[in-house]
Amino acid sequence: MSSSTASAHTPAASSVSSDVVIVGAGIVGLAHAFEALSNGLSVTVVERDREPVGASIRNFGHCCITAQDGDLLALARRSRTGWLRAAEAAGFWAEQAGALVVARSATEAAVLEELSAARGGDAVRLRTAAQTAEALGRPLDAAGDLVGGALLPADLRVNPREAAPALARWVAEHPRGRVLWGTAVTGVETGAVHTTRGPVHGDRILVCVGHDVDYLFPDIAEDHGIERCRLSMARVEAPAGFRTNSAVLTATSMLRYDAFTAQPSAAPLRTEVLGHSAELLGIGANVMFTRLPDGSVLVGDSHHYDATTPPFIDERTYELLIDAVARVLGVPELRVLERWQGVYASSPRGPLLVRDLAPGVRAISVTSGVGMTLSFGLAAATFDGTLAATA
Ligand SMILES: Cc1cc2nc3c(=O)[nH]c(=O)nc-3n(C[C@H](O)[C@H](O)[C@H](O)COP(=O)(O)OP(=O)(O)OC[C@H]3O[C@@H](n4cnc5c(N)ncnc54)[C@H](O)[C@@H]3O)c2cc1C
Repeated sequence: MSSSTASAHTPAASSVSSDVVIVGAGIVGLAHAFEALSNGLSVTVVERDREPVGASIRNFGHCCITAQDGDLLALARRSRTGWLRAAEAAGFWAEQAGALVVARSATEAAVLEELSAARGGDAVRLRTAAQTAEALGRPLDAAGDLVGGALLPADLRVNPREAAPALARWVAEHPRGRVLWGTAVTGVETGAVHTTRGPVHGDRILVCVGHDVDYLFPDIAEDHGIERCRLSMARVEAPAGFRTNSAVLTATSMLRYDAFTAQPSAAPLRTEVLGHSAELLGIGANVMFTRLPDGSVLVGDSHHYDATTPPFIDERTYELLIDAVARVLGVPELRVLERWQGVYASSPRGPLLVRDLAPGVRAISVTSGVGMTLSFGLAAATFDGTLAATA
């Protein structure tokens, strides 16, 4: 991934000027770069690392559209269009594979039935236990504890290890685009970004540094209650038969996304899950998994919140998550290929930080675990002027 993103050809920053300067080559910054270039503007992306290594490559690659509610649902739907356009332009894998929500109790099935009634049977397609078992690659006679499920066809899948690097390459190769790798931003003011390689000039500056917004603007981050949410993730060998490219969600996912929690059966579901899986809830689990194009499977995740990120991961977290995924897949165990920790920005104030810092300077961070889902919607709203600053 690194050869075309390395900084060997990084020009001196002091010679750089463009319509838009974007700080951060994660998916939020790169979606903004894509949208700006699509609008005929010139763009410089400034990234401290040598390639994207942040939250945007560490996640499930799940654009989780249908599980959003209210304003976020509208933004997520808009984002979907941008993702498909960007995938076509930059040539990365994006499949309209949807998400499969697995129901393993009558209460879980009730939440899905209620969501289907609220959104319509096309948006939330109820599945029988046999259909769910088939999608998971479980033999029909081994459907076991499966009760049913729902397919959310609007959801998208991308490969998180491919999408941001491919988009960065596309920006770097665009006649009006440029990416300055290995260049850390140390300060921002109207018309200029100060970097470790000198100033970069631009009419409009967008600071898209995710959870690290507190390093540049500690007061704003504190005012917004920004914390780091750290998540344990693993990549496992797929069990024989598991082939769906749909993201697979479970009961703990239903307790985390607004579209599910708005349903009447969500409260009894929480009590039920607390009864049989209190330890999973204790690590803030969202038991879900997605298949990569090479056939291996991304599994996770847990949620722990701190101002800064302790480097240590309790092995019990992995035992709980991997065991929970194995049970959904109907296999005794899973072989782990890789483990890592991901971090994203979180805030009790809501899912977005959008702050105008000076004339022509704006910070945009997604402060909830939905930055992949919202990135292109945010970018479209930034450039059509409909993205309002948050309080
Ligand atoms: C494990 C995990 C699972 C997730 N699952 C999902 C999911 O299923 N669906 C979903 O929608 N979202 C998911 N998310 C959330 C999503 O990944 C994030 O919200 C999103 O990637 C944030 O993108 P970003 O560009 O803001 O941040 P990042 O990808 O972290 O990028 C920020 C960039 O800014 C750069 N930077 C920071 N400071 C500076 C500086 N001073 N100078 C220059 N560069 C700087 C960093 O090096 C970094 O490259 C998940 C996140 C994690 C960690």
